Amino acid sequence: MRETKLSAHDFVLPLFVSAKIAQRQPVASMAGVFQFSLREVAEEAARAQDLGLPAVLLFGIPAHKDEIATDAYAEDGIVQQTVRAIKARCPELVTITDVCLCEYMSHGHCGVTRLDGDHVHVLNDESVELLVKTALSHAQAGADMVAPSDMMDGRIGAIREALDANGFQETGIISYAAKFASAFYGPFREAAESPPQFGDRRSYQMDCANADEALREVALDVEEGADIIMVKPALPYLDILWRVRERFGKPTAVYHVSGEYAMVKAAAEKGYLDERAAVLEIMTSLKRAGADIIITYWARELAEWIGN
Ligand SMILES: [Zn+2]
Repeated sequence: MRETKLSAHDFVLPLFVSAKIAQRQPVASMAGVFQFSLREVAEEAARAQDLGLPAVLLFGIPAHKDEIATDAYAEDGIVQQTVRAIKARCPELVTITDVCLCEYMSHGHCGVTRLDGDHVHVLNDESVELLVKTALSHAQAGADMVAPSDMMDGRIGAIREALDANGFQETGIISYAAKFASAFYGPFREAAESPPQFGDRRSYQMDCANADEALREVALDVEEGADIIMVKPALPYLDILWRVRERFGKPTAVYHVSGEYAMVKAAAEKGYLDERAAVLEIMTSLKRAGADIIITYWARELAEWIGN
């Protein structure tokens, strides 16, 4: 008997939706990945559901960016409109929204910033306030779960409190609890149009050398009320994934990120790798290491390959 068996239910499909386009656009650095228009995205979500995928994770690209991320929490923001469109079309499909400010900030950082010479200060409390507004607006639009990806301190507790106070006790929180500063995020920043215009994100993402720190971060998020905890990236952090799953016994998600995707795609294109065999091996490894949920750009193909 095989100990680890993949199923379509293991996978979540990330979807990028852009307010700036009328038709889907390929993401050059991620073969097979597209930005969708608002008009097309519900159709794409329905296709994912028909394939047996349980959930989608939405990232929005707004038409307008500013220094207070206005479109992140606007009632008619791109994600809010997308959630309504998807829930109208596929009420059963679990709709998860990325909650972060970087795509909506003119400077591309995940929070409110203050520049001090060359140094970028990300202001934690001011940022958390905007993240709470964003999460609440997603819940009001009908999101089943919100996924704060910013790594600011105290945002899980603050979001939980605001959701509960507004009648959204049922809305779940997936916390990017162990998110490492990583070279593997490069292609995503093209897809989500969110590269920082100055500085980097090392002040609020974790150093890849630190495992105990990751466990401490996870403990805080669990204490604050996270329903699902996430480790990101995936393959270089299998030890973290394993330790998190063992230590906390909570549903654990892993994000197989854009760079991990792009490197297999590029090798497969050159004929150096068998894409399907490599992807199935990677996904099996992630599940074996403790992942209950795998967020991957191959979700559609995996569902087709494996079936339910
Ligand atoms: Zn961000």
